[in-house]
Amino acid sequence: MLPHNDFIHVAPSDAPELERRENVHPDEWRNPTPAARYNLVVIGAGTAGLVAAHAAAALGAKVALVERHLLGGDCLNVGCVPSKTIIRTSRLYAEMRNATQYGAQIPSDIRVDFSAVMQRMRGIRARISRADSVRRLTEAGVDVFFGEACFTGTEALTVDGTTLHFRKALIATGSRPDTPSIPGLVEAGYLTNENVFDLTELPRRLLVIGGGPLGCELAQAFCRFGSKIIIAQDWPLFLPREERDAAQILSDAFARDGIEVRLNTRAVNVRTEGGQTLVDLVIEDHRSTVEVDAILTGTGRVPNVDGLNLEAAGVDYDSTDGIRVDDFLQTTNPRIYAAGDACLEDKFTHSADASARIVVRNALFPGRQRLSALTIPWCTYTDPEIAHVGLYVRQAHNKDISVKTFTIPMHDVDRAIADGEEAGFVKIHVKEGTDRILGATIVARHAGEMMNEVTLAMVAGIGLRTLARVIHAYPTQGDAIKKAADAYNRTRLTPFINGLTRRWLRWTRR
Ligand SMILES: Cc1cc2nc3c(=O)[nH]c(=O)nc-3n(C[C@H](O)[C@H](O)[C@H](O)COP(=O)(O)OP(=O)(O)OC[C@H]3O[C@@H](n4cnc5c(N)ncnc54)[C@H](O)[C@@H]3O)c2cc1C
Repeated sequence: MLPHNDFIHVAPSDAPELERRENVHPDEWRNPTPAARYNLVVIGAGTAGLVAAHAAAALGAKVALVERHLLGGDCLNVGCVPSKTIIRTSRLYAEMRNATQYGAQIPSDIRVDFSAVMQRMRGIRARISRADSVRRLTEAGVDVFFGEACFTGTEALTVDGTTLHFRKALIATGSRPDTPSIPGLVEAGYLTNENVFDLTELPRRLLVIGGGPLGCELAQAFCRFGSKIIIAQDWPLFLPREERDAAQILSDAFARDGIEVRLNTRAVNVRTEGGQTLVDLVIEDHRSTVEVDAILTGTGRVPNVDGLNLEAAGVDYDSTDGIRVDDFLQTTNPRIYAAGDACLEDKFTHSADASARIVVRNALFPGRQRLSALTIPWCTYTDPEIAHVGLYVRQAHNKDISVKTFTIPMHDVDRAIADGEEAGFVKIHVKEGTDRILGATIVARHAGEMMNEVTLAMVAGIGLRTLARVIHAYPTQGDAIKKAADAYNRTRLTPFINGLTRRWLRWTRR
């Protein structure tokens, strides 16, 4: 467990927490007697492990699932579910403060009940934990073992003193937060995604180190709850992976929220003086000190590869990039596969899910499904959201592909205007001279939802020409995608065709 600041309490053992525990790691659990040999032994019961175990068992495989902590892994317990739940409440507070923009009257002194926010989150997390529960797994015929898995050879591993023999195994051990090496940080105590959702009191002043998706999402949420937020980002902009205009819109949104953003800034030292936590920040040669109540780090993820005795299993790995896999997700031991954060660059729940499905096909059947064949979108759930799929322009140029881009600002979309959600754009890149979609970035309040349409089009090989024929219900924000497709269609009106149509219309007027 990471060190905590004094004011941080562990989550209360209330009814939802007891329910979650009962679902994802019951106190009274006894590991079963193992089968002589399993078709598939899965290590790690996060999204990748759960999906693989359920899918393999449904197909009739004898499956064992080993989990050292909580079923559901990061997504359920300390990732997507708690973060998206509190983000929803934070958005409500932002909207209440903004009520007059909508012609509504709300009392001016809006008081945030942070403990109620977290209580709601715990209730929702408990409810969603039912889907990941030990009961569902055992009902599906999966043997569930709680304990730390450790390979003893190329075809066996141990858990809690019991040996499991396997025909195939899946390493789905996920990732954990990277700890930035800042002198004094560990001693002063800090938050990561592993303990931030245990908070019961709102930190008055929060320093967020790292401007990636996790840092941005939680910084905005805590700001909207009333924390004074500073983000220190060791880069010239947020979300280094995203297109600059997308990140700039987020920067502007943060400024409106009142988040203090320090770009090109490194946190270099943390110390405690007179009960106060002081952090030294350096931007170029300028050093300043900020006083904070808590520090949240979001500086990246490290794959969980330690303690598995991968050498005994003949599995190559790298402590930064994780388990080494080929395009079929097979490791250097042909019996052993990997999926999810433990091996993927794209560390998302949906990629963990998709990669686990590939493993079930390739490991248990003569499947040859490739990771590279997947089209993986992603979304950062800030307000506005930033979603992306496919290639960025710079990537297309690196591959010598000429790109034409169609951009529709959200302020040209009726529904976005009506909703007061005009920040953002839909930007779709096609291969020059064709309507084939190479990639897209959407910045909008519901960018994640909107991106699914573009992803579907890419997977199904549907071009912008066909998207222009898809009737979008009016008024919807997704209409922006249709507008981008219409913009493409207008480029098909060459001077020659334009001349022909004009001549035809002139002739029909006679
Ligand atoms: C704050 C936050 C918000 C996020 N939000 C989103 C989001 O909105 N959308 C999205 O797509 N993704 C999101 N993610 C990422 C997402 O949570 C992960 O990509 C996903 O959980 C990865 O699933 P996984 O199965 O690979 O690993 P994990 O969920 O990490 O599961 C791995 C499991 O393996 C277990 N394990 C590890 N080693 C061993 C061992 N030796 N023996 C037994 N068990 C072991 C661990 O205890 C863990 O339960 C978020 C992540 C964070 C941190």
